[in-house]
Amino acid sequence: MTQLVLLLLLAAGAAWLNWRLGLSRMRREIEARARPLDDPEIEALVARFGGELGLPRLRARLYDMAVVNGLATPDGDVFLTTALLQKRRLGAFRPEEVASVVAHELGHVALGHHTRRMIDWTGRSVATVLLGAVLSRFIPFFGFVLAAMLGNMASAGLSRRDEYEADRFASALMLKAGLGVEPQVAMFRKLATMNPGPRPPAWLSTHPDIEARIAAIEANAAAWRAEAPPPA
Ligand SMILES: [Zn+2]
Repeated sequence: MTQLVLLLLLAAGAAWLNWRLGLSRMRREIEARARPLDDPEIEALVARFGGELGLPRLRARLYDMAVVNGLATPDGDVFLTTALLQKRRLGAFRPEEVASVVAHELGHVALGHHTRRMIDWTGRSVATVLLGAVLSRFIPFFGFVLAAMLGNMASAGLSRRDEYEADRFASALMLKAGLGVEPQVAMFRKLATMNPGPRPPAWLSTHPDIEARIAAIEANAAAWRAEAPPPA
């Protein structure tokens, strides 16, 4: 029993340390690759978000990366990738569509998703050891493999939940800023055509299916409209 407790403490400690080290490495890498956005139209929309959120110094920066994406650090820095901005310069995206990516990343920051991931990560490591130890009595060695697989599925489910929450936050912010949810939906449709090819099954994927995300955004917007109909 004491041995098991020790093992669990060790697993939790190792997971936490691993997370912290990963975080400081990520911070260094990001700062080395960060540049100003240099896009007045998008900067103006981000400033509008800042006004709505009471964050007058809110900004998004450029992050050198070949994948069309947005990212946020646990400290609350928001980035758009160079690949995204390049496509925007070629006219692939409207400024409002790009702003919806910033709004989504702000959602992750505002809702504390990084902290939640850290707690999930630590909890999952402990649960995997515990479950693995139990399962190994019945299925030697493969008990741990099975436990790790179940752990992966559980965290994929949790990070999908974060995506829906960040989308919902973004929709609310887009509406408050007077942009509506249409650019958010349009952006998803464009991203879907840009990243074709086989997708992992939904239960293994950390990102929910794009069609499901669009449906959720439209359902939220419709529910909010019903709650507060526009003045006649
Ligand atoms: Zn996200």
